[in-house]
Amino acid sequence: MKFRVIPVTAFQQNCTLCWCEETKHAAVIDPGGDIAKIEAAIHEEGVVLTKILLTHAHIDHAGGTAELKSLHQVPIEGPHKDDLFWIEGLDKQSAMFGFPKVDGFLPDRWLEDGDEVTVGNQTFQILHCPGHTPGHVVFYHKPSGMAQVGDVIFHGSIGRTDFPKGNHQQLISSIRNKLFVLGDEIEFIPGHGPASTFGHEKKTNPFVSDHRG
Ligand SMILES: [Zn+2]
Ligand SMILES: [Zn+2]
Repeated sequence: MKFRVIPVTAFQQNCTLCWCEETKHAAVIDPGGDIAKIEAAIHEEGVVLTKILLTHAHIDHAGGTAELKSLHQVPIEGPHKDDLFWIEGLDKQSAMFGFPKVDGFLPDRWLEDGDEVTVGNQTFQILHCPGHTPGHVVFYHKPSGMAQVGDVIFHGSIGRTDFPKGNHQQLISSIRNKLFVLGDEIEFIPGHGPASTFGHEKKTNPFVSDHRG
């Protein structure tokens, strides 16, 4: 599996184009907006979009979903159904953050912990990681040691939990019990900012490291 990060929206959200090298089938993870940039990347890589995947339904991650779907007629997979209220509130989110008006959508498939999502011949494992939003999921590609973690954890930081249905303790538990157990060497692409590894965050992230105080 190959991964290409495409920063989108005023929030510089790390939308990711990923594809199976054998089939050239691709998925876009978190098309928050700037669809022309995403389209250009799809064209440059010479891949065929077959799925739209969502980690969670905040506007900077999901705002371009309906538009991208209308261009490619591909299924939307994710997030977990507990993020339905965020999808239904996309209008309100776009007004609040000064985003262009977005069309509504519903996922073709809600994801659960333990599910698998295929892209061409490649398979992501789904980890339900609530805390930042209740329906947040992580896409873990074991063969390449790579996780798409959305706004669960960042290089040196963690996701906000001061939104409706956010939960700090739940977020910490998601990070420790779902992500860190995957292994220190696993690399992750967060929703914002640079990539890192779980081992690096375990050592140095002030919110979740083993070496606080
Ligand atoms: Zn978010
Ligand atoms: Zn975000």
